[in-house]
Amino acid sequence: MSTNNIRIAVQKSGRLSDDSLKLFKECGIKFESGGSKLRSISSNFPIEFLFLRDDDIPGYVEDGVADLGVVGLNVLMEHTRKVEIVKELGFSKCRLSLAIPRSETYTDLSQFEGKSIATSYPNLTNQFLQKNGVNAEMHEISGSVEIAPSIGLAEGICDIVSTGGTLLSNGLKEVATVFQSQAVMISNNALSAEKQAILNKLLFRIDSVQRGQN
Ligand code: ATP
Ligand code: ZN
Repeated sequence: MSTNNIRIAVQKSGRLSDDSLKLFKECGIKFESGGSKLRSISSNFPIEFLFLRDDDIPGYVEDGVADLGVVGLNVLMEHTRKVEIVKELGFSKCRLSLAIPRSETYTDLSQFEGKSIATSYPNLTNQFLQKNGVNAEMHEISGSVEIAPSIGLAEGICDIVSTGGTLLSNGLKEVATVFQSQAVMISNNALSAEKQAILNKLLFRIDSVQRGQN
């Protein structure tokens, strides 16, 4: 194995995976993916892929376990990370939104004052509300957030939305957008000159792919 490979962490399976793999293939990079494989070295570009859970990607890039990563801005921004955003990738677009039961009337954000909100993004949600002068109680849960109001766990939720279909089918309505997200490429802050050169080459190819799509 060459030590000169740049190492990139991508989501193993989920809403970022297909478009991430497609992007690198469109860049002309050949590698195997799928199945139970957790790492893969390209046969024609100095890059090694690590297939991981998306939540772990920012930390691995910050620690230098991976040099680069592809992750949703929502996951990246929930915690303070010393990494650099090197490219907005334009896919996996979604938003983090506040929602309440459909049967309730919505006036404005002050309605959330003193209320409890179930979310996987307590920091982003709280920062947004505080900026708007609202103090609410964050109830952090890691999944199935939409169920929280109907089981009495919280009065509202703050979750990732793309079409709003999931909210609707759980009797909720979207009332405010907290954060707009898309997939981004991040890099470790201390890349060697050699790795920086590989990254530049990669970014050049990504730019060409993106230009071709516009
Ligand atoms: P993992 O098993 O890797 O932890 P996950 O279940 O946490 O996966 P996914 O649902 O695959 O995560 O979502 C990954 C990312 O894709 C999200 O953090 C977000 O940036 C984006 N995303 C989530 N939902 C949507 C959606 N409905 N449409 C588009 N992008 C989305
Ligand atoms: Zn995840």
